[in-house]
Amino acid sequence: MPKQKFQKYRINEIRLNLDETSEIIPKKIAGKLKISQNTIGSYEIVRQSIDARRKPKIQWVYTIDFFCSLKLNLPFAKERIYLPPKANLSKDKQIVIVGFGPCGIFAALTFAQMGYQPIVIERGKDVDARTKDVQSFWSEGKLNPDSNVQFGEGGAGAFSDGKLTTGINDMRIFKILSEFHCFGADEEILFKQKPHIGTDVLKIVVKRIREEIIRLGGKILFETKLIDFTVEDEKIKAIHLDQKGHHLTMPCDKLILAIGHSARDTFRQCLNHNVAMVQKPFSIGTRIQHPQNLINMDQYGDPNLAQKLGAAEYKLHAKSQSGRGVYTFCMCPGGEVILASSAANQIVSNGMSLHARDGQFANSALLVDVRMGDFANENPLAGVEFQEYWENKAYDLQNKYELLQSDIPSFLNSDLASVLPDFAKSAILETLPILDKKLLGFAGESALLLGPETRSSSPVRFIRDKSFQSNIKNLYPAGEGAGYAGGIMSAAVDGMKVAEQIISEIN
Ligand SMILES: Cc1cc2nc3c(=O)[nH]c(=O)nc-3n(C[C@H](O)[C@H](O)[C@H](O)COP(=O)(O)OP(=O)(O)OC[C@H]3O[C@@H](n4cnc5c(N)ncnc54)[C@H](O)[C@@H]3O)c2cc1C
Repeated sequence: MPKQKFQKYRINEIRLNLDETSEIIPKKIAGKLKISQNTIGSYEIVRQSIDARRKPKIQWVYTIDFFCSLKLNLPFAKERIYLPPKANLSKDKQIVIVGFGPCGIFAALTFAQMGYQPIVIERGKDVDARTKDVQSFWSEGKLNPDSNVQFGEGGAGAFSDGKLTTGINDMRIFKILSEFHCFGADEEILFKQKPHIGTDVLKIVVKRIREEIIRLGGKILFETKLIDFTVEDEKIKAIHLDQKGHHLTMPCDKLILAIGHSARDTFRQCLNHNVAMVQKPFSIGTRIQHPQNLINMDQYGDPNLAQKLGAAEYKLHAKSQSGRGVYTFCMCPGGEVILASSAANQIVSNGMSLHARDGQFANSALLVDVRMGDFANENPLAGVEFQEYWENKAYDLQNKYELLQSDIPSFLNSDLASVLPDFAKSAILETLPILDKKLLGFAGESALLLGPETRSSSPVRFIRDKSFQSNIKNLYPAGEGAGYAGGIMSAAVDGMKVAEQIISEIN
């Protein structure tokens, strides 16, 4: 092969046995390409995944970008560069972001890095104070409706497994992962096929991003709630805030609503102002918890391999005879099931894990499609009412904040089943044996159902035009609550997209 100056190539399917370490990668590349290892320069891991299909032979599988002095019949490595937008918007415009979850965080960071000074309004507390409120809710049942698992610095994802996977493909994803890494997350999130951060690390990262936004000139007002806004000539003019009981009015040129899927009071406020929104399907069901060792055994064939490969994960789905899909969602290996209420007298489950994922249990949501035909009326917020109905029913059954739970044999006649619509209850019962065939023991004696799980995604979508504005001009609904994201990464991407759009507008 002819010699040339070093060129960067991408190669897939570099396989390592579990007893091999990454130092062997250049040798593996050379072996696969039948070239001398001396022609290979530095390399970078682009992706690392596990292939456990041929147990007991489990392998790491890598995609690698590497320099080589030979001309190879391989694709060139694609640089993962984020190109910021051209800043057209005048720097003295008052930009307000409501919500400091992933969407609001990445919108604010984008503005701040581009020389703007956004103001973030967050109803909840900073993440340390918030953590105390959440602990007191879990231990004493004292709910703070503005500082809880859904509301506060870091948004809904702060108490989570911190999975950073997403179904979307966007050039901003690597930029977001790089920011998480830069502010404290492990380097492995940059290349793992299924990166995760964990609630403990996420809290540190979120705090550091907040400090960076402030360092760059942004402001973050905690314990400050958007309670109303003034619209003139179909444009946002001012916002009205409640800051620890004091009412404030603030002028506002651009308003990003990154309020998440649980801000039901703010949804209602928007509807009062005729902000255009429509119903959106979502899902309902329970959490299902198993011993983590059962999952490790099924996926790896040997539970001890979890020490090397990490706690095993799964993703299952089945179709019921009624045509409703039943699927597992938001799996938390080595994690715990949590009570995730955000308003009085409502019960809702979710799951979270620490970075180490070293708890004894695995959990996952077990969900059934909810369709718009299931709602009681045509109101855009009928899906919210649907969620509230089942969440309130779960509270009223016991008059305290506690998840309902049942083993599988007792599920049919359990209190838990009584707080699910009939279609969901029967779809779960019908498909459990099918899911059990896919993952041995899934519906076995050690499985525990907890719930209800009602907030898989937003039940509403705000209508936006091509410039991401709603029918009220200068109002930009964004992220999960607006119906444009379904997790940490997609919410962060949407926040960045909206910020970039505003920055590139001329006025
Ligand atoms: C327990 C749990 C675990 C999860 N695990 C994962 C996971 O592992 N991976 C994943 O990808 N996703 C996970 N999710 C989902 C993920 O957290 C959300 O998709 C994501 O946080 C949505 O981001 P967002 O910024 O759009 O909204 P949110 O994160 O919901 O943020 C909205 C923010 O707006 C604030 N707010 C609302 N109304 C107002 C108002 N009127 N005034 C001022 N502030 C307001 C809220 O306090 C909140 O902080 C999890 C969610 C939960 C609840």
